[in-house]
Amino acid sequence: MALHDTLTGLPNRALFRDRLDQAIAHAAHTHSPFAVLTCDLDRFKAINDSLGHPAGDVLLRVVAERMQSVLRPYDTVARLGGDEFAIVLTYLDEQPAASSLAERLIAAVGEPIILDGQAVEVGVSVGITVALENDGDADELFKRADMALYEAKAGGRNTYRIFCPDVGARIAMRGQLGLDMKDAIRRGEFRLVYQPVVDATTGNVVSLEALMRWSHPARGEISPGEFIPLAEENGLIVPLGAWALREACREALSWPEPLRVGVNVSAVQFRSELEEAVLVALAETGLPAHRLKLEVTESVLMQDGDAVIACLHRLRALGIVIALDDFGTGYSSLGYLRRFPFDKIKIDRSFIRDITDPDAAAIVRAVVNIGERLGMGIVAEGVETAEQLELVCREGCTQVQGFLFSRPLPPQDALAYVLASQVGSVSASPAPSNSPPKRRRKASALLSPACATSRTPKVA
Ligand code: C2E
Ligand code: MG
Ligand code: MG
Repeated sequence: MALHDTLTGLPNRALFRDRLDQAIAHAAHTHSPFAVLTCDLDRFKAINDSLGHPAGDVLLRVVAERMQSVLRPYDTVARLGGDEFAIVLTYLDEQPAASSLAERLIAAVGEPIILDGQAVEVGVSVGITVALENDGDADELFKRADMALYEAKAGGRNTYRIFCPDVGARIAMRGQLGLDMKDAIRRGEFRLVYQPVVDATTGNVVSLEALMRWSHPARGEISPGEFIPLAEENGLIVPLGAWALREACREALSWPEPLRVGVNVSAVQFRSELEEAVLVALAETGLPAHRLKLEVTESVLMQDGDAVIACLHRLRALGIVIALDDFGTGYSSLGYLRRFPFDKIKIDRSFIRDITDPDAAAIVRAVVNIGERLGMGIVAEGVETAEQLELVCREGCTQVQGFLFSRPLPPQDALAYVLASQVGSVSASPAPSNSPPKRRRKASALLSPACATSRTPKVA
């Protein structure tokens, strides 16, 4: 009892510590490496809050069993408390063994779990440190695995990271960036750029996606891939996202009707009065609701699903267009498509990049078919070449977005692009360009006849 966790039956913190000390002593003796893994469940709190503690307990037991099932008999997995687990792997031949175990662990834990007759999915983030003899004491190893875990969480969760010495420096830098972010909002260092989304059959611009940029006074341009996860972590995405909504709606007012503006919203915003931020942005700017599109990813639906779906329904009832972004990454659960009538599905650019591969093309075709059946328009993201354009059109995508047409542009250039497209002088340009297009051929001229005529877009 003193050494085991009563809920899961796994070793507890005290026994884990003992096993880790043994592994350190063993490595000193045998000169063979071992690894310490710290694991933290993703979304456990949301599930516990929405389905109740008894369901949360069942989930922890199932996760514990699954973790044990992928380990070897001489490994130890312990529950340290809450949704925190730790593992020590001994007799490790090489670092890839720890990575492949982490991959199997993530896959096993990520399988749906039935709770109260409902399938829920929980993820796990894993931090790994691989140690050799005399590589530090238990506290030091634990600290390293924890730093790697922090990186895994910041890297999008449901993934693993291996500690390396510069992880510590990176964490310190990210901490500083988080502090800088507060001032950056106040100092107006954020701005929006706009990337056109083009009708695949006519070449007309149908909407523009607002994408955030941060010009850091010392570090220069920082990509949203770096600062958005950080802002989600420290909660600043809430004021930042509200600012982006207002700014994008204000900008869209200067565009010709009925052009829409797409704004990305993160899962964290849903937990904190997103609806109000949207209503305020529309009321303050006077943009009609039907000219706003919200882009959400599956992670939004993975948290408290029912509340989020009710919120999306209310926003959609106002006329706001709702798009499912980055489809094909994440879980791509088809259940989400049944649970909410998205207006659009944006197929992630990883599929478009590989579209010459028949398997990737088959997936795109399948998503298009599902979308058509469900009345959802399909947007292909990241179209960079004329060949990709040809292929995504052939598979039935109705709208396209990508560097072939335009990179994200500053507001004035985006407006110039739109106006040029309306007089029919914009063309897709295989050379990525940062400047707005001058007078060129119409985009549809680049499409093959099959592309330009076979499909008519359902949702503009
Ligand atoms: P996203 O919403 O999927 O946006 C599309 C990303 O793909 C943009 O990257 C865009 O510049 C890039 N892209 C578009 N066409 C091409 C192409 O042909 N080739 C390649 N290689 N890339 C292309 P960006 O601007 O770096 O944004 C990355 C992600 O950051 C966005 O992905 C979105 O998830 C997030 N993000 C950006 N702005 C915001 C924001 O205001 N709020 C939130 N919550 N997230 C944002
Ligand atoms: Mg997007
Ligand atoms: Mg996307």
